[in-house]
Amino acid sequence: MHNNIPMYIDGEFIQSQSTRAIPVTNPATQLVLTNAPCATQDEVAFAIASAKTAFESWKETPSPERARLMMRYQQLLKEHHDELAEILSQETGKIFADAKGDVWRGIEVVEQACNISSLMMGETAENVARNIDTYSYIQPLGVCAGVTPFNFPAMIPLWMFPLAIACGNTFILKPSEQDPMTPMRLAELFHEAGFPKGLLQVIHGDKEQVDQIINHPDVRAISFVGSAHVGQHIYRTGTHNLKRVQCMTGAKNHMVIMPDANKSQVINNIVGASVGAAGQRCMAISVAVFVGASKDWIPEIKEAIASVRPGLWNDEDAGFGPVISPQARTRILSLIEQGKQEGANCELDGSTFTLPEYPEGNWVGPTLFSGVTPDMTIYKEEIFGPVLLTMESESLEQAVELINNNAFGNGTSIFTESGSAARYFQHNIEVGQVGINVPIPVPLPFFSFTGWKNSFYGDHHAYGKQGVRFYTETKTITSRWFDEEALHGPNMTITLK
Ligand code: NAD
Repeated sequence: MHNNIPMYIDGEFIQSQSTRAIPVTNPATQLVLTNAPCATQDEVAFAIASAKTAFESWKETPSPERARLMMRYQQLLKEHHDELAEILSQETGKIFADAKGDVWRGIEVVEQACNISSLMMGETAENVARNIDTYSYIQPLGVCAGVTPFNFPAMIPLWMFPLAIACGNTFILKPSEQDPMTPMRLAELFHEAGFPKGLLQVIHGDKEQVDQIINHPDVRAISFVGSAHVGQHIYRTGTHNLKRVQCMTGAKNHMVIMPDANKSQVINNIVGASVGAAGQRCMAISVAVFVGASKDWIPEIKEAIASVRPGLWNDEDAGFGPVISPQARTRILSLIEQGKQEGANCELDGSTFTLPEYPEGNWVGPTLFSGVTPDMTIYKEEIFGPVLLTMESESLEQAVELINNNAFGNGTSIFTESGSAARYFQHNIEVGQVGINVPIPVPLPFFSFTGWKNSFYGDHHAYGKQGVRFYTETKTITSRWFDEEALHGPNMTITLK
């Protein structure tokens, strides 16, 4: 099949020999932009073998040299920021500002990877026993792999391979088959930065290629970001094969609104946090929990959300773009329908929204439900669309209990003017990333992305110090020297006790 996007194997951009390919479409028009070939078994095996060979010399490359190449890469990413965002907008439908943010959040991780020398420093202790010292070194693992989702095609690949490679590993990336053009452009810039061949390999495909990677004996560690059920499969299979695995998965993020909160800030923040990027963010706010009298603000929030209009990526007045695929749209619409049938009040229904100029687009308008209860499907499942659920609670304790009973634990936030309420919330909430008057508390890359419960399977989280730990081994050395003679030789002046 022609017009296939190339793969990046053994330092070259090559066309796959596969006869199976998945069309990559513009979600606003359904125009086919390219096709993602499903790599053959031989191609995947060759990519892993090339990464294994490349590791042998890359692991010996001093960390300042690795860091210097990474600096060149981050400079190139900055120079191509707008171009990358435009490609990203084409294949995801994201409005340009969101696309730029997607690229930028990835660049920030590359900046962090430039600091690798100090991140890989070990620990030392002198005289742990008489004349014995202990010290540790941080060493790379070998071939690592990453499987990424459609919703952040720049940021999430950049969460993974720059840090893994800066640590001295080599990396196989299997990006989402729905938007592989942005990751391929990231790979081209990586190539242009002048890294030795074989450090990064990008192969395309779906379950079949992923399964080959997670079962391959030469792959030491797997990073996954995507839905919970796929994450469970990857975690189970990868750990069954005795590999190191980290899976960042689905979410249902609640925002708690206390009656003392700053109302206009709540309204401003909740709109972007819920329907922004068409709700296709793992840290999107999908449930607003109103404590006490703050429920009186629901009509104003509804009005603010209703004023957000979906549109094309380059329409400056558009609040968000189409959802990724017709299948995603059908799924979201069926969940909205189910919400109505299960008795929630659909106060604002975006299921019939369309843009007359682009009737083929995967449009879903902003949607708001009230009267949602924890047993409803729309509450239990991740909708991953521009749909906000509102719930009410009599007390902060009750709101915390509701959130703690939810299966996911990616992000949450509280809006309040009370330090005590905020402190109670941050201490008792069983969620890994907490915002206080900050709606989407995604940590910057010198921290780590610390989802909990069904939002994360593994031990070390993505990026930051935990990311470095994930992609490395610690070697601890305990040493003693017996050549005391040397100290007493003709040229020595030190006398040991
Ligand atoms: P997805 O799980 O459908 O796909 C993710 C990746 O897994 C893709 O590369 C895909 O090809 C591959 N894949 C799909 N099915 C597979 C299977 N059966 N076996 C092996 N591999 C398979 O996810 P998506 O729809 O692309 O992304 C949206 C999901 O990602 C949402 O659930 C969202 O919450 C989650 N997400 C989580 C985070 C986080 O940090 N926690 C960040 C972004 C997105």
